[in-house]
Amino acid sequence: MLLILTLSLSLVIGTCHSTTYEGHKVYKLYPTTPAHNEFLTSLKSTEFDFWSPINNVGKPVTVMASPQVQKKFEKKLKKHKISYELEIDNLQSTIDQEKKYHEDKLGIAFDHYLRHSEINNYLDQLAQNYPNIVSVGTIGTSYENRTMKTITISAKPGPKPVIFIEAGMHAREWIAPALSLYIINQLVENPSYGFLQDVDWVILPVMNPDGYEYTWTTDRMWRKTRSPGSSCNGTDGNRNFGFHWMEKGASGSECSETYAGSEAFSEIETQNLRNVLNKTGNITAFISLHSYGQYLFYPYSYDYVRADNWKELAFLAHKVNDVIKSVNGTEYTIGNSAEVLYPAAGCSDDWAMGGAGVRLVYVFELPGGGKYGFDLPPEKILGVCEETWEGIKVIADYVVQNCK
Ligand SMILES: [Zn+2]
Repeated sequence: MLLILTLSLSLVIGTCHSTTYEGHKVYKLYPTTPAHNEFLTSLKSTEFDFWSPINNVGKPVTVMASPQVQKKFEKKLKKHKISYELEIDNLQSTIDQEKKYHEDKLGIAFDHYLRHSEINNYLDQLAQNYPNIVSVGTIGTSYENRTMKTITISAKPGPKPVIFIEAGMHAREWIAPALSLYIINQLVENPSYGFLQDVDWVILPVMNPDGYEYTWTTDRMWRKTRSPGSSCNGTDGNRNFGFHWMEKGASGSECSETYAGSEAFSEIETQNLRNVLNKTGNITAFISLHSYGQYLFYPYSYDYVRADNWKELAFLAHKVNDVIKSVNGTEYTIGNSAEVLYPAAGCSDDWAMGGAGVRLVYVFELPGGGKYGFDLPPEKILGVCEETWEGIKVIADYVVQNCK
């Protein structure tokens, strides 16, 4: 009796604050006509969660649906003759697998994801072990008071161009912080790279720590910050930067996944990033890591407007893509976000260029799991890190040769 009581109590405690995805299905849709795309666009702001953009006709679209709306959803698809297949039958079980994997393994290895505190501990450990080349700083705290740490890697004293990497703006995109740690690990613990003498690196592994922790404790699919709203919480950090804020591809509605905030830089996290970009002199390249979709964007994202040096950005992006492709065959679609995907005003990449004057600015939308999307399985982390790092090295070499 006592055992039963304890068990049911722990079940209640374990579930009362946690969003469950029990029975949630993830569908892959295959729209083949403009009418299909138009219909899907009309569904976007309803109860179905679109994980990928409705792009060109012929490109698959990934959508999550709760058990309550699955029948209705399938009926609509059939009525509009949109073919589909089931990618994930029960999202909760893939999430459970991911968490179990983490509990089994700890330490810095690229076969599992790390909590925010573990990431910060790793940075501190590096600063302690490699005091001559590593220093750890804080750019401020998050809304819920978590420390936002950056690591600076500088192999030689003296002014040099800086490559700044920001990851984890969108909480559920776990591969982004993981890749930033891999880059740090390579630079510090495997430092055989020629460019280390000529470039400094500043890396912010978790831009949205509150959201990131929330994806561990409560809702694996959370995207935004965790600042409270009146009807819904959180702002999309990547719509909150003060460069052409709210012009296109951003929402004024609190409950939207792309809510731009009550004003530009309403979020403490985006203020912190703005301030550090303003303060750090000599930033030549700014790289923002996201997932998923295998896109490599250069500014501007806010509209169909190209950066003055877009030819240079495109040239280098193609070199990056060629090298990444040579590792495992992964290919990126390259271009300005508005032209390739959709306009999105208020992103950090636009601000890095338009606000902070950085010359080389890129957004990586890293590969998804093929089957899992944002939920890239742990055993795929290393492959994505290894191939992408090859591409980022191309940017570093370019900075050394062309941007001194
Ligand atoms: Zn993102």
